[in-house]
Amino acid sequence: MSFQTDTIHAGVAPDKAYGAIMTPIYQSSTFVFEDIGKHKGFDYTRSGNPTRKALEDNLCALEGCSSAVAVTTGMAAITSVLSIFHSGDEIICTDDCYGGTSRLLKTLEEHFNIRVNFINLRNTRNLIPFINEKTKAVWVETPSNPLLNLVDIAEISALAKERGLLTIVDNTFLSPYGQKPFELGADIVVHSTTKYLNGHSDVVGGAVLSNSLDLDAKLKFTVNALGTCAQPFDCWLVLRGIKTLVLRMREHERNAKAVAEFLYNHPKVRQVFYPGLPSHPQHELAKKQQKIFGGMVSFELNGTIDDVNRVLTGTKLFSLAESLGGVESLIEHPATMSHASMDREHREAAGITDNVIRLSVGIEDSDDLLEDLGRALG
Ligand SMILES: *Cc1c(COP(=O)(O)O)cnc(C)c1O
Repeated sequence: MSFQTDTIHAGVAPDKAYGAIMTPIYQSSTFVFEDIGKHKGFDYTRSGNPTRKALEDNLCALEGCSSAVAVTTGMAAITSVLSIFHSGDEIICTDDCYGGTSRLLKTLEEHFNIRVNFINLRNTRNLIPFINEKTKAVWVETPSNPLLNLVDIAEISALAKERGLLTIVDNTFLSPYGQKPFELGADIVVHSTTKYLNGHSDVVGGAVLSNSLDLDAKLKFTVNALGTCAQPFDCWLVLRGIKTLVLRMREHERNAKAVAEFLYNHPKVRQVFYPGLPSHPQHELAKKQQKIFGGMVSFELNGTIDDVNRVLTGTKLFSLAESLGGVESLIEHPATMSHASMDREHREAAGITDNVIRLSVGIEDSDDLLEDLGRALG
């Protein structure tokens, strides 16, 4: 089946009890046994739930892999994956990853002696000097948050495979519609389903996906042991959101392109970060690796911090809020909001200055969005 058909049909079938066309919400902690050792496939919701299973089967089809586990948040997905490593292991992570990811990795380093090297992976070869016998994995986020830098997943995973390392990709920014990391050689994919997959800013959720019997079993075991699994109602919401993923992603991208071009030509804007602009240093990689350029646009304002604040509070349609990937447009300040948990030194080394503003471009009418930004920029 095509991707678009799978968004609607994969993993779901009319309900066996009453023929409900939409997947029922099995809001039940436990399931009755028919006899000793005999049940209908589910015994306790932490270990498995029919509504969660429908979402997991759907996600598996969309990412093209053998296993998916739906968890409570994107951070729960990341926590669950990191729990497969051991004290003494080393991980290499892209230097401008999601703020919550770098915070968690640093905590692991302090508490559990899992060493993390944050490095610039835009040049794949930068990885090589950091690999030693303790290195177990490379953590990739592409496009990155908030600067939309890209990492060549195929190159990284080939190099990692040669040296026995796992490649883990956070695919939140493009969703499986926009990018297919498993086809490029990734071993594990994580999602914050809070963002584009759900797409309506009304749930927090996450998912861990894998494509080998060994990792599938390890990750399922870990999620059940940690108790990071998603709730049935949340799974139902995400499943509902996914049905319009393709339509939404097309509109997000159409609007984001219009916004990026508008900002690129605006005299008060120093720099625009959008992989769809020919001026983006990795535009060619974006065309090769991604199906779409996505709905996120960041830019650096020319001006003082007061000017930055005026733009952040001056828009009416773009709401000042963290998060991304919902139908409504958002504006935020990475230095004091999404990336405040990164220390200043690490943040500035990664290029996230105080003048960087990030937009999650929604699916409103693009003329209205441009007018709103134009007014706030003055
Ligand atoms: C939001 C986000 C996360 C964390 O997800 P939550 O659902 O907020 O826990 C992880 N990675 C990326 C790229 C994100 O945007």
